[in-house]
Amino acid sequence: MSDRRKFVKFSLLSSAAILAGRYLFAKAATKDAPLPATVTNDPIVISTWDFGKDANTAAWEVLRKGGRAVDAVETGVKIPEADPENQTVGLGGRPDRDGRVTLDACIMDENSKCGSVACLEHVVHAISVARMVMEKTPHVMLVGDGATQFALENGFKKENLLTPKSEQEWKEWLKKEKYEPQKNIENMLPGGVRNHDTIGMVAMDKNGNLGGACTTSGMAYKMHGRVGDSPIIGAGLYVDNEVGAATSTGVGEEVIRIVGSHLVVELMRQGLEPEEACKKAVERIAARNPEQAKLVQVGFLALHKSGRFGAYALQKGFSYAVKNGKEEKVYDAKHLYS
Ligand code: ASP
Repeated sequence: MSDRRKFVKFSLLSSAAILAGRYLFAKAATKDAPLPATVTNDPIVISTWDFGKDANTAAWEVLRKGGRAVDAVETGVKIPEADPENQTVGLGGRPDRDGRVTLDACIMDENSKCGSVACLEHVVHAISVARMVMEKTPHVMLVGDGATQFALENGFKKENLLTPKSEQEWKEWLKKEKYEPQKNIENMLPGGVRNHDTIGMVAMDKNGNLGGACTTSGMAYKMHGRVGDSPIIGAGLYVDNEVGAATSTGVGEEVIRIVGSHLVVELMRQGLEPEEACKKAVERIAARNPEQAKLVQVGFLALHKSGRFGAYALQKGFSYAVKNGKEEKVYDAKHLYS
């Protein structure tokens, strides 16, 4: 064989080998880790904190009748939004340091459609405004006056969200704290009452489709205009219909820094169980600033496409509510610090 023919043969063989190698590598690189369990398509709804139980009941009615996960989560979180006794969501939420109740919310469906409002005022059902942003505008997020104007123009009722109880507490706080912006004042409210809690809810419907919603009045006595993680897609909530959904609660600034809910979903994509994924996200917060992390609470909640779920928090005290065809239960999440 001439040198030239040898060379051509060698080149062809090596090109074929390189192409085959690339194909195999590409396959390996794009293949997601195996699902941790068979996909069952059994409807389920999970939400943050013990007050998620009543919200789950409303969401379950939608799922039980064969409704979409996104409809279920919107219906579910409207329960605490309308409850004046719940001082961390919607009506009756604790105000900012200027005495204004400002709401953050977002929603995401199985097609990665999403909508969000931040610093919304005077409208109880922030989640439904977020949904309307998703469905009726070309945008994902409306904030402040623009969000409120959009809501009022689209038929939402203008209401005073500051209840006498929340107003009274805010006035007491003003006397003591002298208008200082707060990073985390979990233990500063009377009786050690939590000053921030959010309802984050994720669900799977009978078609195996996922949806999520997150809504809050945010951190009590925040600076006016402060926006937390809850309305930020990827931070307070993320839904990927191929993998799972996650949501968060706690000090939003910490969650935003690691784009927490998206991180949890991506960790599940790599094969981690929901609780492990939540734990890794919590550990990442702790690793970045251990001193700060010891002082604040953050909790993540995740639902895998398989129907498996789990949660993890920085501190003791984070609970979450689960409802499916078999159980209705409130669990205490595991936590990093004692
Ligand atoms: N994540 C919310 C925020 O930072 C508050 C909370 O869940 O407690 O606004």
